Amino acid sequence: ESYRRIAEVDGKVKAFVTLDEEKARAYAAELDDALGSEGDRGLLFGMPIGVKDNIVTKNLRTTCSSRILENFDPIYDATVVKKLRDAQAITIGKLNMDEFAMGSSTENSAFQETKNPWNLETVPGGSSGGSAAAVAAGEVPFSLGSDTGGSIRQPAAFCGVVGLKPTYGRVSRFGLVAFASSLDQIGPVTRTVEDNAYLLQTITGVDPMDSTSANVEVPDFLSSLTGDVKGLKIAVPKEYLGEGVQEEVKQSVLDALKVLEGLGATWEEVSLPHSKYALATYYLISSSEASANLARFDGVRYGYRTDNAETLLEMYKQTRSEGFGDEVKRRIMLGTFALSSGYYDAYYKKAQQVRTLIKQDFEKVFESYDVIIGPTTPTPAFKIGENTKDPLTMYANDILTIPVNLAGVPGISVPCGFKDGLPLGLQIIGKHFDESTVYRVAHAFE
Ligand code: GLN
Repeated sequence: ESYRRIAEVDGKVKAFVTLDEEKARAYAAELDDALGSEGDRGLLFGMPIGVKDNIVTKNLRTTCSSRILENFDPIYDATVVKKLRDAQAITIGKLNMDEFAMGSSTENSAFQETKNPWNLETVPGGSSGGSAAAVAAGEVPFSLGSDTGGSIRQPAAFCGVVGLKPTYGRVSRFGLVAFASSLDQIGPVTRTVEDNAYLLQTITGVDPMDSTSANVEVPDFLSSLTGDVKGLKIAVPKEYLGEGVQEEVKQSVLDALKVLEGLGATWEEVSLPHSKYALATYYLISSSEASANLARFDGVRYGYRTDNAETLLEMYKQTRSEGFGDEVKRRIMLGTFALSSGYYDAYYKKAQQVRTLIKQDFEKVFESYDVIIGPTTPTPAFKIGENTKDPLTMYANDILTIPVNLAGVPGISVPCGFKDGLPLGLQIIGKHFDESTVYRVAHAFE
């Protein structure tokens, strides 16, 4: 069914970078033989899943939508992919993204431009644009994305689907090609909150292969979907309904709050005073970490190697000049500069200090409230090409999602309305490791 739908619409949507029909069908047949009787089958039995192309898949090309990894066939599966396989789901292909997950529109892919299924002239968001578009277009019921600074929630909002960034440490990152290691998380993109909770349940858990995966209790996320939000205390940061956020977007959040009030929850305005520093902090920290993480792509260890070099040093330089796109180069330069001696204290160290203040803003609010609610993005999906000339406007699109990554807390985007035929997203943010409450509220509202 998925392949039929992909054949029908992916020519237009262009969500998939690589499809794996032969192997997927072989695995499906194998599953069918082995698990003939209903009793042995899990809930994900035979379910087709799309995986963002920065999550490695054994013998299945993993490109990060970059020329430098164009022909890279990993020799192992990421932990999340293995877990999906153990749960009898079928990985059917790899989804387009901004190169190395750097971007907010999937326009930075070296291979193709993914379109928003709601309006093919607009972007699907990014960097997990392929993951959100594939689910929105009905190509797959579930996908995995990654979120370093909004990359699951922002495309989920733009494409009218449900996307969760789990707490930092909730899901193993073993096999996720690293962008900014102190921020990266893998998470589920689905049509409903229930599917989302189920998918998180499947991929979560401590992993000896990832020392940042947390050894915490894993609750039964599905059992939190009770519909009951009576007495729940919601905080609404005034910074999230302030300048730059479109009127219709604010209105959709106020409408959502009314629905939750009708169900017995209460809300009050609060402040996250350091939010205004989040963008600058994020771009310093994430670019610094990226500059270190991307040093491994040198033409020796993986993927692309230039033919245009005489010496080793030239080979490194040429490989990286030819292999990386403009946005990736911009981040590597910014990050290398911020980490260089003489500037380290002024930029990287300062950014880490501000990060602590941002984190404390959240902790303070969570002393008195159960969840924080606001819009996912200040606007609905923008037109293709509209923001490509100006990186700063593009960066500003993540202003409401990025603080959540800096604080390490979980956040979900659920559809909450439309503007001019384009979906809007409601963002629900929870305490550390309290995805259950986030899901409970999202489900009650849905
Ligand atoms: N748009 C942000 C960036 O470009 C988010 C990226 C992400 O979450 N992977 O860095």
